[in-house]
Amino acid sequence: MTATRVLVLNSGSSSLKYQLLDMRDASRLATGLVERIGEATSRLVHTPLAAGAGPRERTGPIADHDAALKAVADELAHDGLGLDSPELAAIGHRVVHGGLRFTEPTVVTDEVLTEIERLIPVAPLHNPANLTGIRTARALRPELPQVAVFDTAFHTTMPEAAARYAIDVETADAHRIRRYGFHGTSHAYVSRRAARLLGRDPSEVNVIVLHLGNGASASAVSGGRCVETSMGLTPLEGLVMGTRSGDVDPAVTFHLMRVAGMSADEVDVLLNKRSGLVGLCGDNDMREIRRRVDEGDERAALAFDVYVHRLKKYIGAYYAVLGRVDAVVFTAGVGENAAPVRSAALAGLEGLGLAVDAELNAVRSAEARLISPAGSRVAVAVVPTDEELEIARQTHELVEKANARK
Ligand code: ADP
Repeated sequence: MTATRVLVLNSGSSSLKYQLLDMRDASRLATGLVERIGEATSRLVHTPLAAGAGPRERTGPIADHDAALKAVADELAHDGLGLDSPELAAIGHRVVHGGLRFTEPTVVTDEVLTEIERLIPVAPLHNPANLTGIRTARALRPELPQVAVFDTAFHTTMPEAAARYAIDVETADAHRIRRYGFHGTSHAYVSRRAARLLGRDPSEVNVIVLHLGNGASASAVSGGRCVETSMGLTPLEGLVMGTRSGDVDPAVTFHLMRVAGMSADEVDVLLNKRSGLVGLCGDNDMREIRRRVDEGDERAALAFDVYVHRLKKYIGAYYAVLGRVDAVVFTAGVGENAAPVRSAALAGLEGLGLAVDAELNAVRSAEARLISPAGSRVAVAVVPTDEELEIARQTHELVEKANARK
């Protein structure tokens, strides 16, 4: 029997999200998450989709990631989907930062773990948790292939002109300071899916992908390869996000340190956690912001306008980077659901061949779809992202290739 199942793990500092997929038809067998790991009020929610049953929930202390994964394994075993099943082909791990070394999904070895560890200084919030997840899974099933799929990998094709910051080269290189980009798994999936929606091969099309979730990033993808993206050394650069500022004059940082007496850590928290939509109006949920705008709330209107202005600026910039654009594609929580964001971001861009059909834009759907008027020079699309499926696909493909070589 060939093993066709892949378990996808996304380990955060105090959470563990997972999905079990069957790659014969890319179906979901189970999904779930453990949150508040290490606290007294940990919670595991497990949904056994294959069994067609509703979510099961457990609360009570789960001390660490090891205990969390064991609890998940128990839940899966309960549905006959245990980690010791011969049908499990591999575990695919989301890893946020792969630096320049990891341009492809990679089978985890001790050496790979050391390299991911070496990248902690450039990804202090994410890589440690991702590493913990991998180590835990390896300890539980040492003989099973574990594959790391990196958020940065899709962006490693960016030309040097886009990836370099214009700062002293020696200093930048000594500290590995450059633009890496994130959300790569989503940009890869969505750009490919958009090409299919247009009935074309990814190698033939130029697309601008706008991944607008709580974190947000844009990318310019030419012939299937990323040529520019809005996040940089860290996920702070670029678009206005739920709680992150996106682009600011870097002098804001030392101004706050010198004039407001803030520490580096305090500025870090300000820009990452107390800025963006939440900093501008106190809310980071676009639904709530739109509700407030409709009620005439000026702070919410300002937040919406700043968000949309930055988005439009990036669309224009990436149009120029690509020269010819076949599609502008919206994805993630805001991009998939917030019709007013889509229409406002493209308003007035008819000269670039960009327009949104009001009726199509208003349709709510979980399907990939076009929202531009028929005959538009540039297609505008909404494509739901699916990072877990992409991680599972890349993991499965790599393991199949390795098996074929055996
Ligand atoms: P992440 O994975 O980055 O946490 P998501 O891609 O799930 O985020 O996006 C979450 C955001 O999507 C929410 O904060 C909210 O602003 C927005 N969102 C979700 N549903 C809707 C909706 N129906 N209308 C408008 N915005 C929505």
